[in-house]
Amino acid sequence: MGNQVMSLNVPSPDPYISVIIPVFNEEENLEELGERLVRTLEGMNRTFEVILVDDGSSDRSWDLLTQLHQQHPQVIRALQFHRNFGQHQAIFAGFQAARGQVMVTLDADLQNPPEEIPRLVAKIEEGFDTVGGWRENRQDSFFRKFPSFLINQVMSRVTGVKLRDYGCMLRAYRREVIDSINQCHESSSFIPALANLFSRRVVEIPVGHAERERGQSKYSLLKLLRLNVDFMTGFSNFPIHVVGVMGICIALLGMGFGAFLFLRRLLLGPEVEGVFTLFAILFVFVGLNTFALALVGEYVGRIYREVRGRPRFVIRQTLGPDSN
Ligand code: UDP
Ligand code: MG
Repeated sequence: MGNQVMSLNVPSPDPYISVIIPVFNEEENLEELGERLVRTLEGMNRTFEVILVDDGSSDRSWDLLTQLHQQHPQVIRALQFHRNFGQHQAIFAGFQAARGQVMVTLDADLQNPPEEIPRLVAKIEEGFDTVGGWRENRQDSFFRKFPSFLINQVMSRVTGVKLRDYGCMLRAYRREVIDSINQCHESSSFIPALANLFSRRVVEIPVGHAERERGQSKYSLLKLLRLNVDFMTGFSNFPIHVVGVMGICIALLGMGFGAFLFLRRLLLGPEVEGVFTLFAILFVFVGLNTFALALVGEYVGRIYREVRGRPRFVIRQTLGPDSN
């Protein structure tokens, strides 16, 4: 964005809209993002700030954020994490720094068109506490969409948090919701679900979704799995209940099987066949045991993380007004 036009926005101590964007190695997207954001927001006739949180990028992202800040010093703020702490932590940091009455989150990769922001804000102004976007025409590969489909199904059942699209981060929140979120100090959490807990009126509107034109998705299948196990264990004890019920069922089956074998022994006398069937059954039980143990471990690990109470993220530097 070679031009040196300074933003005409009057410095405002308390902007009305705060836009919060996590950035992790998005050097190819930041210039266009800044340009489209500022253009859209300036067209809204409301005061605003944009908070870009660099989640430990190793490319030129921070330099570009610095440039953006220099171009629009009044409205563009940037935070830099010490290392990569994750998308949701970056958004948490943005929430803590944000001063607006309406907060909007979106991705930096331009898959969420910044041009949708006015529609989200309009919904908040209609009286909703949280406005979620769902990607009507999602432009991702099958391999990215299919896991998301499964996740959406499982998540709404397991956590009881009903959302149409858990992965879409193009969302808007009223200040009060974010104030409540800021009081949650759990070490990892899932922002859309957390927001639902603190909102009375939630609405979801279809939003556009573009293909990722530059850069790569930062979520490998493993990272996605991690995020969702975290989400499940963070929002519900359902998995542990399922394992409990499974345990009881299996124990009952085992007893039945024992009785069956006993009867056979009485009626048919001793037999040695079927040893391998027993092995197979045993493996199923051992597998389930291990799974149950791992699941309990997951919750214990969560508790341990909470008890340690380490900082969720470390900020190395900030550009722009520092409100906290
Ligand atoms: N992101 C981040 N930290 C991470 C991973 C991702 O801040 O560890 C940011 C990333 O820069 C982008 C957003 O989170 O702005 C969503 O990431 P991505 O587009 O890779 O996810 P997908 O669209 O594939 O779900
Ligand atoms: Mg993306």
